[in-house]
Amino acid sequence: MPSYVSIAFEANLDTHYTYSVPEDLRAGAVMGTRVMAPLGHSQRIGYIVDEDPAVPEGVKLKDILSLVDKKPMITSPLMRLALFVSEYYFCGLGQALRCFLPAPVRHRASDCGMVHVVKIKKDLKELNELYENTPERFWKKRNILRCLIVRKGSSDQKTPFLLQQLKERSECDLASIRALEKAGVLETALEQHWSLRDDEAALPNVPPELTEDQKTAVEKVLEKRNEFAAFLLHGVTGSGKTEVYLHIIEEALKANKTAIVLVPEIALTPQTADRFRGRFGSKVAVLHSAQSDKERHNQWWRIREGSARVVVGARSAIFSPVSDLGCVIVDEEHEGSYKQNGEAPYYNARDLAVMRAKLENCPVILGSATPSLESIRNVKLGKYALLSLTKRVCAVADIKTELVDLNKEVQVASQFGLISRSLKSALTECLGKREQAILFLNRRGYVPRLICPECYETKKCPSCSVPLAYHKRDNQLKCHLCGYTEDYAPPYNCQECGTQLKPAGYGTQRVENLLHAMFPEAKIGRMDRDTTNKRGAHEKILSDFASHEFDILLGTQMIAKGLDFHNVTLVGVLNADISLNTPDFRSGERTFQLVTQVVGRSGRGAKAGRSIVQSFTPEDATLIFATKSNWDGFVKKELEERRTLNYPPFSHIIEIIFRSKDSAKAYEAASKARKKIVSLSKALPGYFYLTEVEEAYPSFAFNEYRWQLHMRVNNVMRAMETLLRPIKANLKSTSLVKCQVDVDPV
Ligand code: ADP
Ligand code: ZN
Repeated sequence: MPSYVSIAFEANLDTHYTYSVPEDLRAGAVMGTRVMAPLGHSQRIGYIVDEDPAVPEGVKLKDILSLVDKKPMITSPLMRLALFVSEYYFCGLGQALRCFLPAPVRHRASDCGMVHVVKIKKDLKELNELYENTPERFWKKRNILRCLIVRKGSSDQKTPFLLQQLKERSECDLASIRALEKAGVLETALEQHWSLRDDEAALPNVPPELTEDQKTAVEKVLEKRNEFAAFLLHGVTGSGKTEVYLHIIEEALKANKTAIVLVPEIALTPQTADRFRGRFGSKVAVLHSAQSDKERHNQWWRIREGSARVVVGARSAIFSPVSDLGCVIVDEEHEGSYKQNGEAPYYNARDLAVMRAKLENCPVILGSATPSLESIRNVKLGKYALLSLTKRVCAVADIKTELVDLNKEVQVASQFGLISRSLKSALTECLGKREQAILFLNRRGYVPRLICPECYETKKCPSCSVPLAYHKRDNQLKCHLCGYTEDYAPPYNCQECGTQLKPAGYGTQRVENLLHAMFPEAKIGRMDRDTTNKRGAHEKILSDFASHEFDILLGTQMIAKGLDFHNVTLVGVLNADISLNTPDFRSGERTFQLVTQVVGRSGRGAKAGRSIVQSFTPEDATLIFATKSNWDGFVKKELEERRTLNYPPFSHIIEIIFRSKDSAKAYEAASKARKKIVSLSKALPGYFYLTEVEEAYPSFAFNEYRWQLHMRVNNVMRAMETLLRPIKANLKSTSLVKCQVDVDPV
């Protein structure tokens, strides 16, 4: 029972404040509980992050005002994880803790299972005496007392006694009940009573007999079941990784432990969640951002109270309040979506998974068909143990992949743009056999840009330095970054040279039209951000495709992963260059992963699969490795390049971006910070590299100019201590210049 506590507030304050705890609040004032406390002229919610810190003598401390939670919302291993987040990702502890609780849980919306309950403080004998001694004219008091006597004498003491029930049965108002509360007869409280209903039931699925590879993998993990150990499970899609996870979790549950499973983009892959529910039923809680507040709130409380013991969720599920953690699993560990974006701290849930397993002494399994180079390097360094699944369980044959040179196609059949002759004949054959195809194009809209044929300038968004895309159906130009739209009103002339701009390239809408023209009989479904902005829309598209309502599914990266349709025998990557040409050292890695993922959608059933990858740069080494499924070759080449440049995984990147409506102000803040970092860097041991102040990509977005410092170091924690903590003041956002620190950007 602490007399003093340290409080961290959610705002980005890096100091903690010490408060005294009034006697009546001490029992509940434990680490991880939220409290209301005075801060400056206002009252704020903060987290207790330390009990009984050292208090300098003679200092008069302010009291905390009240407890927000009945029990700690942040369990102690999670508190340690939050500390790590705040140190590694350079943010305040309160700011780190903020992302540990889903918004609906933080806000305690009262319609989310919170009810007012009545607790009776007297025994039956005392209640009866009170009743006898209350004169008839105080009929309200007598009514209430009678209700309390009935309740006290009833056999059901388990279901909560609701305040609402008492009001109705006694026919009394709240004031009369409060009077009895004051007199110490009863107590009212706001409590959590969520429904323990089962989640949407999934068809039970029975574990298959494991293959030898799978058995070995499971056994190796189980050898380390009671200690920290990290594993990289490398296996092509369909090699049975998920089945390995399911077995490991089953063992954890048998030992009365719990499990966390991270999956990317869970809303897009309902099939995955169903497999876990099918195996573990109502022990599973699913967490993802597409759920309603109420759902998320319920799931979180089911986890906190221990009725859900397997958590399947997107990145923030790594903060789930499970206790007795038995294993952490990260499926598709290479995925960029594990990185938090939009709001600091910019954590990577894959890396936090490893840290959490370490803090809770359990194994962590990172699975992928195309592991990140970071994880490969950790295997080489002996930090992770490698588990391999070499064969596809579900397919009859390997997929045949063909790399098509689009330059040649443009010469012979320019009207068909991105549908090459090879792809056309493959589609004809596929449709003729009543089989299905998936076509992938990472560009939505009709055409991605209007371009000047003379000087290659494009028509740009007024608020961002990116080209506007033309959407034919809405007849609008749209910015895919900030959402700006304007009506399409050609002709447009180049601002540089006056030449008339021409639509250039292909988006999914345009390809859809091409396909209709080419295969008038075929039914085509399109899945991109424009067709899925309504709730439930993507489930509908996927279930329609599963029941063969349409023959071709055309989509953006939404369709690249997780989908498991046994009738799909043809997959096409319409333009592999798009991800290859992004200004980013990871573009090769990403392209390899994408092509491998997309190709893996084909031939998952009893029929052989085929895939076609199209490119204007078919001589590119990455594409050749990807289409030949030459993983080792790709890794070797890529690691050599990264080592030469000293890029990750051979170093860590820290990016500091300064944004402002006033470009000069942002630039100035960046150069000031840079000067200080350079002078401090003399004290930093090991590798250190820092760019000049440079334009970020994009250099202008949401009406703000963006300048950045790009830094590479060996050891992030040491860089934080030596370079960034000392210049905290320079990295604080002000009303004029916003600053964000991104560690290990992806
Ligand atoms: P991955 O996660 O690597 O893509 P899955 O675990 O989803 O692979 O397995 C692919 C398919 O093979 C699934 O339909 C799964 O039910 C099936 N499967 C996996 N392991 C086995 C096994 N040992 N015996 C029979 N079928 C299996
Ligand atoms: Zn814009």
